[in-house]
Formats: sequence, structure tokens, C-alpha cells
Amino acid sequence: MTSVDSASAQKNSLDEIRRRISAAAPIHGLPQLVAVSKKQSADAIRGLAALGQRAFGENYVQEALAKQNELRDLKLEWHNIGPLQSNKCREVAENFAWLQSLDRAKLIAPLQLYRPPNLPALNVLIQVNIDDETSKSGCAPELIETLAAAIGKSARLRLRGLMAIPAPHADPELRRAAFIRMHTLFLTLQKNHDDIDTLSMGMSEDFELAITLGATMVRIGSALFGAR
Ligand SMILES: *Cc1c(COP(=O)(O)O)cnc(C)c1O
Repeated sequence: MTSVDSASAQKNSLDEIRRRISAAAPIHGLPQLVAVSKKQSADAIRGLAALGQRAFGENYVQEALAKQNELRDLKLEWHNIGPLQSNKCREVAENFAWLQSLDRAKLIAPLQLYRPPNLPALNVLIQVNIDDETSKSGCAPELIETLAAAIGKSARLRLRGLMAIPAPHADPELRRAAFIRMHTLFLTLQKNHDDIDTLSMGMSEDFELAITLGATMVRIGSALFGAR
């Protein structure tokens, strides 16, 4: 493809995703789109940014830092959505606007310590292992309140809500049930804490279902950029 072709292909797929998001959305608010750019080039990100996409999700800190460097002029909003190792807390605190994958207490002190004073507080979502999969990161639902209380005491962190990656059940009823459990947990968190406005769930395969069940943020990679 020439770069003109690929620019118009990018425009078509972004328009199509935006159309599908608003078609699924409730009347009182449009869910936010985080474009998941892991394994995509800085040029592909630049192309979507030129079309007005600001929020990008990355899974691997080193890969993200390299692209952030190349794209510094664009002032994009970066979300870390991959599992976070404690030895990467400093890089995330210094270089991201959002951390969507906080799932254990041990991460809180280093994030608080390293968030630079000249930046706004780091937006944080607690990742929940909603289908209790041994292979997945995320905390047990019973742990949410303990983590939320600890984040609440950290002035450089701002708890905004919850994130989940439900198991890719073939049975749509099981996916639906996981999204519904997440929404219930989200409403409980909202009752107990200020500032809770974000339920991040739904990816390329299931974002419309997630939106109808209460997602306020979706994370879409392959349906936007093509296969990785
Ligand atoms: C890769 C990834 C996505 C995007 O997945 P797609 O199926 O490509 O849309 C969303 N969230 C997380 C946490 C991911 O790792």
C-alpha cells in the first residue's frame, strides 16, 4: 500500500469503530476508546493521532517508552494496560497518564514515590481477575476494597475505577455474566469512593457487548490496526 492508501484505510477503520461504539452506547455518554498499539509502529500511531485519536494503550513498558520518545511532539495520553512488574513502577509513574493494571498492594508505594510532582496524579484502575483464571493477572474481587483504600491514601495516585479481561468463553452467556459481575463491582466501588467514573472492559471481539453492559472505556487493538 502507498501511504495515501494506508492513511485512508486507517481512517475507514477508525470511523467504523467509532460508529460501532456510538451505536452500542447508552444515550447518556459515549465510552472512551483506547487504541491498543502494542506491536504497532510509531507511524501507525501517528496516523491515528492525525485523525483525532489521543489515548493509546501499551502492554510492554520498554516498547512503549521507545514509541513515546518518537512521538513526544504529539502529547498523547498513554495507558499502561499490561501486567506491571514492581521493577517497572518508576517508568510507568514517570511516563504514563493511566495505569489500568494495578492488581496488588506492593505496587502502590513505588508508584506514589516516583510519580513526578510536575505531573497530574497517575490515573489508576484496579485490574480484576473476574473469571478467576490462574493464568491471568488481576486481583480477586474480594481484594478490591483493600487496594482502593490504599490507593485513596496516596496523593499522587487517583483511583478512577476497574479494568478486566474476561475469559474468552465461546459461550456468550458466560462473557455476559462476567461483564455483569464487573459492573456490579464497579457500582459498589462508586458508592464507597469519590471520583470513580471508569469501567474499562471490552476488546475487539466483544466491545459492543461490554458497552451495553456498562463499560465506559473500551480497549481495541486488532479491529483498529489489523492483526498483530
Ligand atoms: C491486547 C490487549 C487488548 C486489545 O486486544 P484486541 O483483541 O486486539 O482488541 C486490550 N486489552 C489488553 C489488556 C490487551 O492486552
